[in-house]
Amino acid sequence: MLSERIKEEAKRLGFYVCGVARCEPLEYLRPFYSGFLNRGGHAGLHYLKSYLEKRLNPELVLKGARSVIAVLMNYYPARIQPADDNYLVSKHVYGRDYHRIMRERLEQLTRWLQQEYGPHRCKSFVDSGPVLEKVWANRCGVGWQGKNTLLIHKTGGSYFFIGIILTELEFDPDPVMPDHCGNCNRCVQACPTGALDHLYQLRIERCISYHTIELHPAQGAPTTPKLHGRIYGCDICQDVCPYNRFARPNADPEFSPFTELISFRKKDWISLTEDQFLEIFRDSAVQRIGYQNFKRNVIRAAQDARTGDTE
Ligand code: SF4
Ligand code: SF4
Repeated sequence: MLSERIKEEAKRLGFYVCGVARCEPLEYLRPFYSGFLNRGGHAGLHYLKSYLEKRLNPELVLKGARSVIAVLMNYYPARIQPADDNYLVSKHVYGRDYHRIMRERLEQLTRWLQQEYGPHRCKSFVDSGPVLEKVWANRCGVGWQGKNTLLIHKTGGSYFFIGIILTELEFDPDPVMPDHCGNCNRCVQACPTGALDHLYQLRIERCISYHTIELHPAQGAPTTPKLHGRIYGCDICQDVCPYNRFARPNADPEFSPFTELISFRKKDWISLTEDQFLEIFRDSAVQRIGYQNFKRNVIRAAQDARTGDTE
C-alpha cells in the first residue's frame, strides 16, 4: 500500500515528517550492541541492557508486524533562555511533558489507521519500549544519525522528538536516509567533556545529559565532568550543528516554553525553592528527577563556575 495518506494525516496532526520502513530484524546491529553492553557502555542504565532480543527484532514486540512508521515532532521553542548570567535547561523540556503530547498525537494517528484500514494490531512508542527509535527513524528515511548520535533531518535539524508505530499493515517503504555529516566535526569539537570522541558513539558516562538527568547520587560515577552551566540536559552538540540553522520554532501552544524558565537567571536558580520547582515544572518532564536532584545540578553548576569550566 502507498504511505502518502498516512504522511498527510501525520502532517495534519502536527508532525514535521513521517516515513515508513519494512519491519525486519536488525541482526546486523547485534555485534555493535553486544560489544557496547559488554564493555559497560550503558553506564548503569539498565533499560538499555534490557530486552536486547526485542530491540533487534520488532516482531518479538508486535507479532505479525509488517511495517514501522516513524514520525518527528519539532520541539524547537519560540523563545530561548538567555545564556548570560544563567544556568541552562535543555530545550526539549522547555514546555509541557513531551511524553504526554507525543503519546496523545500518536494515539490519534493509530486511531486514524484503524478507521482507514480496518481493525489491526499496532503499537506506538515514544522514549519507551524496546524499540531502537533512531535506527528506525533512519530506516524510515526521516533522518540520519549524526556524529553527535542524534537524528538529523536535512531541512529541519535535530530538535525533534521521535515517535514509532509498529503495525501489521504493509506499506511501501521509504529509502533509508544517507549520512550527510560529511567532513563536519563541529559537535565533536564543541562537546566539552569528550563524550563524542568516538565518532557516532556517545560515551554516556561523560555526557552532561546523563549526569544531570539520568544519574542519581546513589549510583555515583567514575568521573564527573563539569556541567558547563547545564542544569538539566545539554544542547551543546545540537546548537553547533549546521543543520540546526534551519530549525524553526513550533508555534503549537503545547510547545510554548514556561514563562518563569525564560525569565530566571543564576540567582533565581540558586534560590529556587521546592514550591517554585513544582510550580515552574508543574507539567514538565523535569519533574521526573525531583527537586533534590535538580537542586544538586544547580549547586554543581555554581561550584564548577567558581573553579573554572575547564575540565
Ligand atoms: S549532550 Fe553535551 S556532553 Fe553530551 S555529547 Fe552533547 S555536547 Fe557532549
Ligand atoms: S555538527 Fe556536523 S558532524 Fe555533528 S551531527 Fe551536525 S553535521 Fe554531523
